[in-house]
Formats: sequence, structure tokens, C-alpha cells
Amino acid sequence: MQDLAYWQAMAEKVTAKASLRNQAYIDGCWTDAADGATFQTVNPATGKVIAAVAACGPTDVDRAVAAARRAFEQGAWSRLPRNERKATLLRLAALIDAHREELAVLETIDMGKPIRETFGYDMAEAARTYAWYGEAIDKIYDEIAPTAPGVLATITREPVGVVAAVVPWNYPLLMASWKVAPALAAGNSVVLKPAEQSPLTALRLAELAEQAGIPAGVFNVVPGLGAAAGQALGLHPDVDCVAFTGSTATGKRFLQYAGQSNLKRVWLECGGKSPHIIFDDCPDLDRAAQAAAIGIFSNQGEICIAGSRLYVQDGIYDRFMGRLEAYAAAMQPGDPLDPASAMGAIVDAAQLDRVLSFVQAGKDEGAGLRLGGEQVRRDSGGFYLQPTIFECPSQALKIVREEIFGPVLAVTRFHAEDEAVRMANDSPYGLGAGLWTANLARAHRVSQRLQAGLVWVNCYMDGDVTVPFGGVKQSGSGRDKSLHALDKYTDLKTTWINLT
Ligand code: NAD
Repeated sequence: MQDLAYWQAMAEKVTAKASLRNQAYIDGCWTDAADGATFQTVNPATGKVIAAVAACGPTDVDRAVAAARRAFEQGAWSRLPRNERKATLLRLAALIDAHREELAVLETIDMGKPIRETFGYDMAEAARTYAWYGEAIDKIYDEIAPTAPGVLATITREPVGVVAAVVPWNYPLLMASWKVAPALAAGNSVVLKPAEQSPLTALRLAELAEQAGIPAGVFNVVPGLGAAAGQALGLHPDVDCVAFTGSTATGKRFLQYAGQSNLKRVWLECGGKSPHIIFDDCPDLDRAAQAAAIGIFSNQGEICIAGSRLYVQDGIYDRFMGRLEAYAAAMQPGDPLDPASAMGAIVDAAQLDRVLSFVQAGKDEGAGLRLGGEQVRRDSGGFYLQPTIFECPSQALKIVREEIFGPVLAVTRFHAEDEAVRMANDSPYGLGAGLWTANLARAHRVSQRLQAGLVWVNCYMDGDVTVPFGGVKQSGSGRDKSLHALDKYTDLKTTWINLT
């Protein structure tokens, strides 16, 4: 991989005024917000403003939705033969791949995550997502129902129409791609609203989509604040479906918006407080300790499936914690553009303050601070926090119950399997869960009992585009990734034909 100087030079190049897109992309045109409003996007590694970006409001959202509807009705994309939609999505995947370095740098300076992740994972995975859904869409058949003779009943999948994708800042391009790729593959028009902390890669994606041949109006990007652009999409009477990733609190608002407007379908990928359980018979303590550290400290802990509650059984507790501490201590935050950095900067000052308030709450409520807890690299002007581990005497602590979305791990010791399962399930969330055991029967038994959309056995956070991703309880509804994601962006139509 290239070195720090290389990535710094590229960062200068991609943020040069001439190449940076900072307007909305509506109906194939770049445009300021109707009222001229902008918001600033800041580099979390330095605290410096990168650009002022169009802050779209209801008027801009109206225009984008109208363009999306028009394009959908005209059929240049929605009725395009599937193999041609496939060819376009494959071109988009190839373009993302060809611009992978530039996109990775843009993402890193916009949200603070290490270049080794944006280049090594996020961008590669985003490209794969468009390729995968492009490849899938001309291999899916419709159904004929087993009715009586004299009737032909077909069950066909149709695109829902106008899809609004509203996404967070922690994996800006990848979260967008998990929604945009299947929605476009199914023939919908899309209006994407990136998070206000990280709009830049979404805007670059629009340029690449145009270059790939996606017709005007089919894909639109409306950067803006949640309470303005996000709410306008949620309440819009002509949006057929909202695919949302973000906090549970905002997810609840989208359900209300739907109720107040047109009962649009709302799919939610929300927050998590995922339990990670290490049993005494863990087959490899070293690997488990490393996975536990990566599971909470990578991406600065800003991961919905972060293993933020760790449960360690009595018999291995001390040996395991020593290893965990060593792996965690090695993940100190550094310049996100430095390929040696395993952890970067927290997304903004507000999020850093929020995470620090949880660290304080842990101390105040009597949790034992075992590692970290301090803000570091203040001279940089950026927002950095040490990897932090608390040992928790009670499940009632705020740091055990609430999603922190930062590099803070709450560890609890347990004695029996039942106790671990009970504590793991004692949460309003149900996104991910992990367990380590050498006992196959226990692996099955505990996986079945865990209330989560994703369970990992003897690993943590692994996966690819072939498997569904999403949660139960207040972690949301519906699934991203895999063929099942297409269920969100299509409706079933029954056509009953009387042949007699
Ligand atoms: P957020 O809910 O604040 O924002 C998410 C998106 O919603 C942003 O685009 C934002 O502008 C918009 N938004 C905010 N307020 C809004 C409002 N009142 N009306 C309409 N739209 C509004 O979340 P965040 O801070 O950007 O992201 C962190 C959260 O996302 C965490 O809770 C995390 O667990 C969750 N997340 C979940 C998944 C998953 O797949 N389940 C993945 C990544 C992140």
C-alpha cells in the first residue's frame, strides 16, 4: 500500500476546488440549493473545513422527487431490459474500482476513518455491491401460481417507484451502495441523502453514475441536514419507499413521517449494542481477543454492529483480559491518512463530546476503567480518543445499556451459559452477536437463543454481500445485502388470467 505522503498529496488533489463536487445532483444537473443555503463539511483529523456543500431543503427535495418520478414513468431505466441495466451497473462498479484511491481519500478526510479501511474495504466492497446486484438482476425469474386449469396466475416483481435512501456517516459510500445498488438494479429511481458529516463520496458517486450511463433523474443526490432534507423525504407524498440507516431515534421519526404522509414503505437499519460472548472453551483465546478488540475499536467504534458489550466467562477471564488489553493498546489512534493507523478520528466535535460523556458516566457509575479514556492528539485540531475498556459490575450501567458509537468497550464477567444469554438479550437492540466456543452443540444452542439478526461463531463481524444484514427489535426491519434486499425495492403483483 502507498505511504502517508502519497495519500496526503492525493488528498490535496481531490479537495482542490476545481475537482470537488459540492452541489446537489438533481435530474442530471449540478445545482445549488434553491435558497442558496450551504453547510460545512469538516475534516475530523484536523478540524478544518473541507468545503461548503449545498444544504437542500423541501424545495430541492420536491425537484429531486419529481425528476425521479418522471424518469421512472418514462421508463428509460425502469423498463430497460435487465441485461442492459446489468451492463450499466457493471460499468459503475468498474468506475468505482478505477477511482478507488480517490474515493478512499475523499471518504477518509470527510469522516476520519483510516485509509487502510476506506481503500482496503469500503471502496472495494462498494464496487462489488454494484457488480453483484448488476450480475444478479438478469438471473431472477418470476413465478406462475399452481392454480386450477383454465387460469394462468403470474406473480411478478415490480419496482416500487421512487426510493429515498437516507444514510449515516460511519460508512458513507458503502451504506449508500447497499441501498442504491439493489434499488437501481430492480428498476427504481433513487434520491440519496447522505449524512451532513460526510456528503462528498455520494456526490462523486453521482458523477460516476452519470458516466456509467444511468439516465438523468434516475439517480439524484440531495445533501442536507436531517431535519430539512431528511424530513422532507420522509414526509414526501410521492416517495414510495424510504430505506434508512442511522440511529433508532431517527428511524422512529421515519415511521411517523410515513404515517403522517402516504404510508410509504419504511425499511430501517438502526442502532445496536451487540453482545460478544467468550466461553471458557474458546478454541483460540488469542484470536478471540484480537477479534474483540477489532470488533469495538476499528472505525473508532463507529460501527452499528460493534461488539460493544463483551461477556467473558470466569475460567478464562484474567488470561483473556490480558490479551485483549494488549491488542487494544496497540490500536492507538493516528492520522487517518497514514496506512499504519488502525484507528482514526471521531467524526466531529459533537460526537467526541458525546463519547467522552459516556466515559465520564462509566467512571461516575462505578465501572472500572481498565484502559484509555483520554482524548489525544489535540495539537492536530482533530477529534481523537484512546481505545477505552471498562469492567462493569452491573448491567444497569449507562455504558452497558446505551449505544455509544465510539471506541468504548463494556466488559462483564459471567459464570454460566444461561446467565450470558440472559444478559446478551437484555437490550432493546438486536443487531449483531458473537460467541466463541469449541462445543458445536453450544454454538448452535446459543446462536438460536440470541436475539440478533446476525450471529458470528468463532469470529466477529465477518460477512460479504451474499448474506443478509440487519437487525431485530429496535435495531430495525428489513435486510440490506443478498437477494433478500430486493424484497425491499420490489412489490409483488398477482395477475389472474381467466383462460376459459
Ligand atoms: P442519524 O440517525 O443521526 O442520521 C442518519 C441519517 O438520518 C443522516 O442522513 C441524517 O441527516 C438523517 N437524519 C437525522 N435526523 C433526521 C430527522 N429528524 N429527519 C430525517 N432525517 C434525519 O445517525 P448517524 O449519527 O448518522 O449514524 C449513527 C447511527 O447509525 C448509529 O445509531 C448506528 O448504529 C446507526 N447505523 C446502523 C447501521 C445498520 O446497518 N443497522 C449501519 C450504520 C450505522
